Amino acid sequence: MTDILLRGGRPWRLLAPADLLVRDGVIARVGQGLDAGGARVVDVSGRLVLPGLVEAHCHLDKTLYGGAWVPHSADDTLTGRMSNDLGRRAELGVPSVERITALLERMSSFGTTHVRTHTDIDPAVGLRGVEAVGEAAAALSDRVSVQQVAFPQHGLLTNPGTAELLEEALKSGVEAIGGIDPAGIDRDPVRHLDTVFELASRYGAAVDIHLHDGGTLGAWELELIIERTAALGLGGRVTVSHAYALGQIDGAHQDRLAKGLAEAGVAVATAAVYSFPVPPVRKLREAGVTVACGHDGIRDLWGPYGSGDMLERAMHLAYRSTFRADADIELALEAATYGGARALGLPGYGLSVGDQADLVVVPVGGAAEAVVTHPPRSLVMKRGVLLSA
Ligand SMILES: [Zn+2]
Repeated sequence: MTDILLRGGRPWRLLAPADLLVRDGVIARVGQGLDAGGARVVDVSGRLVLPGLVEAHCHLDKTLYGGAWVPHSADDTLTGRMSNDLGRRAELGVPSVERITALLERMSSFGTTHVRTHTDIDPAVGLRGVEAVGEAAAALSDRVSVQQVAFPQHGLLTNPGTAELLEEALKSGVEAIGGIDPAGIDRDPVRHLDTVFELASRYGAAVDIHLHDGGTLGAWELELIIERTAALGLGGRVTVSHAYALGQIDGAHQDRLAKGLAEAGVAVATAAVYSFPVPPVRKLREAGVTVACGHDGIRDLWGPYGSGDMLERAMHLAYRSTFRADADIELALEAATYGGARALGLPGYGLSVGDQADLVVVPVGGAAEAVVTHPPRSLVMKRGVLLSA
């Protein structure tokens, strides 16, 4: 593998420009005026160097990306979108290895190097989604790393046979188990969460739960998740996705839950889509809670939006959070990079010596500008291999 020297860039959070020497897939040196030796030199003078972007919440298996445009056909309720998904996915060829591949290629072109995707599992689709995502991810493993969550989209307790299939998925090597509205959809939050956490504990899986349930109901479910995370010693391995309730409860209640999430090691992933409530990112970060970011659906039966660009997604998160100051806008970029990496449990992530050389270079001078303008990327690198430059 050829050594590569990125010359003159501005690594995010370093105070001065610095060269990065990449050797054997990792960052070997960081400093000014590094000797190139026999390395290939790539001039990135004045450009922002970021660690690879992390898509922490999407649904690759559902995507229609790369195919013909499909007009949206669901009504405006969660249950309506769920029945639209169940009713039309077979007709539209979902899940499709080709479309998943097309979307992963697009994500990679924007500098996304790690993806966590929630894959539908239910008695009708079985593990076909897991297999389709696995096939596409294996073919693109030199460009992007994909982590799957075995996801009971259409209910767990309310959809007999689903728990057994989730277990099969974990046995087959799927890294994480999901859940969905333990109260609002599955009608029995204690039993739902006990089932999910018991499987996670038995198979050493991470947990990532969709929680749309709002207000005090959702807040109480967060407490149940915190309790189980602490009791099973799963801190750092549990994420709550969406967590709308955090954006709806009063400030004092937010403070208490933020403290509980931080102490238990429960991360929050948000997509900041449409007008759905967004968790209080700055408050959560100040309390020490890991905040990650993702698109949720990208061009699928649930909605026609989503580009696959995590800098654009970070812009939406910053905008929905009413962030204007650079330091605030950078919190959204943190969610799309380091926050996502912590939520996904990625080892060796970052811009320090010894970290994996997953890098993206953006033709701007600073992080807030990268988020607001999200321009075409100058360079994308995965494990020390240039994918575009
Ligand atoms: Zn989702």
